[in-house]
Formats: sequence, structure tokens, C-alpha cells
Amino acid sequence: MDNKKTALVTGGSRGIGRAVCVRLAKAGMDIVFNYNSGKEAAEETKKLCLLENVNVLAVRADVSNPEDCERLVKEAMEFGGGHIDVLVNNAGITRDNLIVKMSDKDFDDVLNVNLKGYFYMMREVSKIMLKQRFGKIVNISSVVGVMGNAGQVNYAASKAGVIGMTKSLARELASRKITVNAIAPGMIETDMTSVISDAAKEKMLASIPFKAMGKAEDIANTVAFLAGDESGYITGQVICVDGGMAI
Ligand code: NAP
Repeated sequence: MDNKKTALVTGGSRGIGRAVCVRLAKAGMDIVFNYNSGKEAAEETKKLCLLENVNVLAVRADVSNPEDCERLVKEAMEFGGGHIDVLVNNAGITRDNLIVKMSDKDFDDVLNVNLKGYFYMMREVSKIMLKQRFGKIVNISSVVGVMGNAGQVNYAASKAGVIGMTKSLARELASRKITVNAIAPGMIETDMTSVISDAAKEKMLASIPFKAMGKAEDIANTVAFLAGDESGYITGQVICVDGGMAI
């Protein structure tokens, strides 16, 4: 096993995932990331990581499909020379609506990507990390999973579920010194929040003590801390990176 760490990041083609890939590349890690449909955006992420002189692999894989997740992890293992040191579960979607108008499909689609996708990835990667007796898992949840949000019962259920899975898996893997933590971002400038109307944004900003949205890099820096050596004794925690939104 070589000394260089390999990080596997889901949904690395845009937004927070791209910032995480670049930040971990800056920390010297080789990067494997997946995308679902954004091949061109994935190429851009790859270019940005290559500037940091690390090895990078972009894989198309739908995290809501367990077979895709198995293949993604297998490819990451081969690429990383037989180890995966860091898993960042980040790929996520929204299908917002009031509950009385929410379809079964919108509920299921969100749970399939945001919750089951994280489960499939953690199941595969845990097998590897248990053998390695080392690993860092960072799950991107949301303040919505902590506080709830009108119009997002599906998304809130998925993100609260991620917190439950994080705490449970942290307990399962602690004896092997594998850490499992979650980050709960507040309102971050990405494609996901660009669809929110100005009026709704203003209302949300009023509820944030910082009175400002965060940047993808704010989340990426916290991921780098939880994926690095300086957070070795931290596990099962949820860190809100939200300008005070969830205080
Ligand atoms: P984004 O800009 O919409 O990017 C989403 C990423 O996930 C893309 O790379 C996308 O790939 C990938 N993805 C979506 N569905 C996928 C699937 N089925 N399989 C594989 N990849 C898939 O979102 P973001 O704002 O960066 O959000 C990233 C994470 O942070 C999500 O989990 C989100 O819930 C969470 N979060 C975001 C905010 C915020 O304010 N932005 C706040 C709290 C939490 P393709 O482009 O190829 O589809």
C-alpha cells in the first residue's frame, strides 16, 4: 500500500462536491469522484484537481443504484492501488413541494439518492475500511435535517436519516478507529439554491445570523478537517456550517 491517500467523493461534478474534490486534492489526496449526468462539468472538476498534481478519476455512476455503487467502489479501489482512505457522501437532489401536493415519486426519488445512496456507498466502503483498520467517512447532511423546513418533508427525512446513519455507523466502526461524521450545511451558493426565488431567499437570509449565504469552499474546508489527521478523535458528530442558522 502506498502512502498517498485516496478520497472517493460522490456528486463531484458541481457545487459542494467539486469544491470538496479540489480541496482534498490540495491536501495531496488522489481523487475518485462520480457524477450522474454532467459529463462536461465532471471534466472541469477533473481539470481543477489535476492542477494540484494528484491523480484523478471521474466515473459515471448513479448512487441510487446499488450495482453502480459497487462498481464505483471497485473502480476506486483499483485506481487507488487497493485502498480507499476517505469517503465523502455528497450527491443529493431536491424535489420540493408542500406535503399535500407531494407525489410518491418525488418522495421516493429524494430518499433513493440522498439516503439509500449514502447507505449503499457506506456499506461497500465499510467492508474495505474494516480490513484496512483505517478510514474517514464524511456525510453531507443539511440544517434541514436538524431543523426541518416547510416544503421539504422528503428532503428533511433524507437528511435527518443521514444523521441517524452517521451516528449508528460511527458506533459500529469506532473500535477500528474509523471515524464517521456529518456536516450540516446551511444555505450555500450552488445550482441547488440558484432555483430558489429571490423572495424566498430574502426570507431565508433574514433567519441566518450571518445574513449571508455560505460558499461551497466553507463546506469543503470542514470536510478537509474531518478527512484529515487532526480530527482523529472526533466521531459521530454533526457540524453545522451555516452562519448560525441552526443555533
Ligand atoms: P448541486 O450543485 O445540485 O450538485 C449535486 C451533485 O450531485 C452533482 O454533482 C450531481 O451530478 C450529483 N448527483 C445528483 N444526483 C445523483 C445521482 N443519482 N447519482 C450520482 N450523482 C448525483 O448540489 P449542491 O448544492 O452542491 O449539494 C451537494 C450536497 O450538499 C447535497 O447532498 C445537498 O443536499 C447538500 N446541501 C446543499 C446545500 C446548499 O445550500 N446548496 C445545503 C445543505 C445541504 P450530475 O450533475 O451529474 O447530476
